[in-house]
Amino acid sequence: DSGGRADSLDKHSDARWPRQNSLSMKEWDIPYDDVKIFEVIGAGRFGTVCRGSWHGAVAVKLLHVLPLSDDGSLLDTFKHEVSIFRKTRHENLVLFMGACMKPPRLAIVTSLCKGMTLYTHIHLRKDKFTANKSVLVAQQISQGMGYLHARGIIHKDLKTKNIFLESGKVVITDFGLFSVTKLCFGNNARGDSLGIPSGWLCYLAPEIIRALRPHASLLLPFSKATDIYAFGTVWYELLCGEFPFKGQPPESIIWQVGKGVKQSLANMQASRDIKDILMVCWSYRAADRPDFPSLLNTLQKLPKKRLARSPSHPVHLSRSADS
Ligand code: ATP
Repeated sequence: DSGGRADSLDKHSDARWPRQNSLSMKEWDIPYDDVKIFEVIGAGRFGTVCRGSWHGAVAVKLLHVLPLSDDGSLLDTFKHEVSIFRKTRHENLVLFMGACMKPPRLAIVTSLCKGMTLYTHIHLRKDKFTANKSVLVAQQISQGMGYLHARGIIHKDLKTKNIFLESGKVVITDFGLFSVTKLCFGNNARGDSLGIPSGWLCYLAPEIIRALRPHASLLLPFSKATDIYAFGTVWYELLCGEFPFKGQPPESIIWQVGKGVKQSLANMQASRDIKDILMVCWSYRAADRPDFPSLLNTLQKLPKKRLARSPSHPVHLSRSADS
């Protein structure tokens, strides 16, 4: 329809933002005052997530915006990421509903996930996932991630904290928002001296680890293959109930991963094909890692009999991760 009308409506339209896009972006613009904001659910590196109401229950991610960063580039990046987000429709991805795009109030409105994250299940509640259940979860993650990749979207922050389980159904959140959130205020507030938030490192592929520099997070070489590496870590957490390199200091993890040393699986009592998935996802060379469709295929072919070797604690890991 008429671009001229869009122009007259959009007084703030920016030369850097094409007219067509600016028109369709309007459909996703939610006036901040239309959203009722209730209690804080949690605060992440980049923003605060609140329970809210907008035509029903929603999650509202309010971004911490640095007051001085309002030079247009933040808004452009935000709009760009929203324009990616709005194109996602998949059972295993959180439903994007819209965004508040008027600085300084930048927020993303999504459906409210009802279950708990895999992180809460695995690391806080210490719930055990049978191998069969782990496979079902991994298959759904591969399906959602395969869809994202097919649309050319890299998650960049796949981790158990961003994967919800709602009565057996996987819902992946927080995809594609890395750049804008990294431009926002407070991202290093909870990090260590290197600015690396705890629990982040073990998802980072060797090529990212090797590119880590202070304040250079926007230049990190994320790719489909780095998402696969992160998936490998999620697979390990599901099976072993802990993070790889558990208890080791960041410097040591950085050194090992950067050199191509992997978490040993010697004490992990799982079938060869389960361990092979870990090893191939954690391949040092990005080109040696599989893609999600082939991972899904492998997961679907895992023999059920071997998976059912011990229903309650299928995969045993000895007390400490060995060297
Ligand atoms: P990081 O910022 O490092 O990714 P995080 O994943 O804990 O850390 P957020 O993604 O900002 O941070 O999420 C903050 C909290 O809000 C988490 O407890 C998360 O589980 C919860 N949360 C995020 N999105 C939703 C959602 N759509 N529905 C329900 N809870 C959500």
